[in-house]
Amino acid sequence: MRRAGAGAALAVLLLAGCGGDPAPAPAAPSAATSSSASSSSSPAVVPVETPTPPPAVPAPPPAPAPVVVLDPGHNGGNAAAPGAIGAPVPDGAGGTKACNTTGTATDAGYPEHAFTWDVALRTRDLLVAHGVEVVLSRPDDTGVGPCVDVRGALPGQVGAAAFVGIHGDGAAAGGSGFHVITSSLDPAGPEVAAGTDALAAALRDALVAVVPPATYVGSGGLDDRGDLAALNLATTPAVYVECGNMRNAGDAARMSDPAGRQAIAERLAAGVLSFLE
Ligand code: ZN
Repeated sequence: MRRAGAGAALAVLLLAGCGGDPAPAPAAPSAATSSSASSSSSPAVVPVETPTPPPAVPAPPPAPAPVVVLDPGHNGGNAAAPGAIGAPVPDGAGGTKACNTTGTATDAGYPEHAFTWDVALRTRDLLVAHGVEVVLSRPDDTGVGPCVDVRGALPGQVGAAAFVGIHGDGAAAGGSGFHVITSSLDPAGPEVAAGTDALAAALRDALVAVVPPATYVGSGGLDDRGDLAALNLATTPAVYVECGNMRNAGDAARMSDPAGRQAIAERLAAGVLSFLE
């Protein structure tokens, strides 16, 4: 009998717990007590107070990914389109200059546009892996342009935190090394100019691990010029990186080697990430 009574009580408890039939059980008194205790119709039973949970705090929205424009210099179709790339465009200094140029090449014929495109893709992949949204100024290495004024306007249009133009220089063969170029006009005001200087320093400090600073231009891997339209027209921190002198044998060897380009891309990405911190 004791077994049967306990079983009946358990059955009623289960029913009450599931919100089932609240009719009193006909069996043991203990079962009836359990049933009435769980009924909301009895004012004599004070339910156990449970602490009121604190109001839910909504999770903050994820911070938007920083946007960086990578501008691989020149383009693969430029040499075959002299009319288009020779058209005058605003230079950001009150005058005009050519839409774009063909760029240089190593003595062995490895062209600058192919170098800049490859390094830009490698740098993009590294930055994307670190949560950066990358916008390239051109979609491939076979087109014409875009013109330098269009490239310079791009970072402002996409809300970029930084603009990094990637180039290889074509100087006298005796000179070697990289240099990072800033606009000497500080066209977007002192705050952006300070950002540009910080970006240039971050890239210089990163690149120096794999390429010596230029021996033939600038100072300590930095140079300041007023004739580069994209830098003059950018409304965000903006630099050009001349990753080496393609006419110099040592630089050309590094720039023609995929491993050398990967090393340069890793330092460019490290510099950009340092700047974004
Ligand atoms: Zn160039």
